[in-house]
Amino acid sequence: MSENPITKTSLDTIVKFARRKGFVLPSSEIYGGYAATYDFGPLGILLKKNIENLWRYWNVTSRIDMVEIEGAIFMHPKTWEASGHIGGFADLLVEDTVTKKRYRADHLLEDAGIVENAGGLSPEQIDDFINTNNLKSSDGNTLGKAKKFNLLVKTHLGPVEDETTVAYLKGESCANIYLDWKAVQDTTRRKLPFGIAQIGKAFRNEITVKQFMFRTREFEQMDIEYFCGPKEADKFYEEWKQYRWDFYTKCLGFKAENLRWRQHEQDEKAFYASDAWDIEYNFGEMGWKEMEGLHHRGSYDLDQHSKFSGQDLRYLDPVTNERFNPYIIECSAGFSRVFLASLFENYREESLESEIRVVASFPYELAPYKIAVLPLMKKDGLSEKALRAYKELRIQNISCSYDEAGSIGKRYRRCDEDGTPWCMCLDYQTLEDDTVTLRHRDTMEQIRIPLEDVLEYLDDEKFGK
Ligand code: ATP
Repeated sequence: MSENPITKTSLDTIVKFARRKGFVLPSSEIYGGYAATYDFGPLGILLKKNIENLWRYWNVTSRIDMVEIEGAIFMHPKTWEASGHIGGFADLLVEDTVTKKRYRADHLLEDAGIVENAGGLSPEQIDDFINTNNLKSSDGNTLGKAKKFNLLVKTHLGPVEDETTVAYLKGESCANIYLDWKAVQDTTRRKLPFGIAQIGKAFRNEITVKQFMFRTREFEQMDIEYFCGPKEADKFYEEWKQYRWDFYTKCLGFKAENLRWRQHEQDEKAFYASDAWDIEYNFGEMGWKEMEGLHHRGSYDLDQHSKFSGQDLRYLDPVTNERFNPYIIECSAGFSRVFLASLFENYREESLESEIRVVASFPYELAPYKIAVLPLMKKDGLSEKALRAYKELRIQNISCSYDEAGSIGKRYRRCDEDGTPWCMCLDYQTLEDDTVTLRHRDTMEQIRIPLEDVLEYLDDEKFGK
């Protein structure tokens, strides 16, 4: 069984915090919500964009061998035949014989502590484990036999609903990259090795959705497909493993002790993959869970799409004049899992003067607001001056907030919860000499600096400085 450290913040605390502060709002909440669908509120969307921008910076902008695309959600249905999703993109479910409630079979065995990783088990093996352990449903009823359940979300496009108009929502976001690979290579005149990145939506009709945004039916993936020659693939696989680990620890600032590698078992891996590892995050009482998968895919994807489309997708090596389908190294991170991990990683409760101070200790680049503008009082022209400074910061494209309601202490606490690294307070001295106090979220220390130096001060906090 995975270790379950008890020192971590509970999921319940994170869920309540995210709702209370407007990071994450249950979708369609006024209708009672809608099974595991979520909206990003004002703080959440800022955090989301910051994670995406750091991912983009780390994996695309700062490298000379990467480009980015954004693909459509609807794709030719043959895509999913070629990829094997129509035939084989299935999880095993078992049904409560009385209530007809359905469970994902591997999770049921894992949650009951019977098998650590049940993802690769056959229906017969699942049935055996259930029988031998006399496993019952959560309602105490017997369970039926394990059977396959396809995860693709199916719909119809166009005014007619028949077999000819069946379409699928993307089961994995990266599919466009395989189909576009040749067009991207031609139009950018790239030579191997190079990679294509994409952030996009994926949809899976998951049997059970649970644990907040950890498993949902609509989610986003941040994908990298790195194309290279077969001989170099092992080397690049190792390089990408290190690089993706560094993204979490060096770029997002996650503690290394909250991350670990897990190699896929032989029976869990896709048959064509020569190696597969997950980066897992320690989600407290939820245990260690997959956040990103790294797959050494060989040339399988391009072989399949070239077979099903009848198109030659091969690369022409300018040195050897050989033509071949490149090998692909894939790094696929689930956006909402990284988002959730960022909340776990940065949520803190501290005792302060007989109360609890809640702090979202995001690194500067992740913080939704970089600075809050707070006039000490509303009167005597302080609000007006503060509003002018606030507008000026926004015009300078600084993500910032403004708050003049309540005592300054209460406002500091609200900003701590937002994760805002700096609070800028304008007081009576500001009216005299144009200086402000800057208070830091983590140390709570204050310094006094000229108002005109604030931007420069913030700039020093930026990533890489
Ligand atoms: P799992 O075993 O948790 O179902 P997976 O191995 O099927 O995930 P992949 O197909 O490798 O996942 O997808 C890449 C990433 O997409 C995963 O590492 C995960 O972070 C994310 N992901 C997959 N399914 C979901 C989902 N239902 N909700 C949110 N994120 C998901």
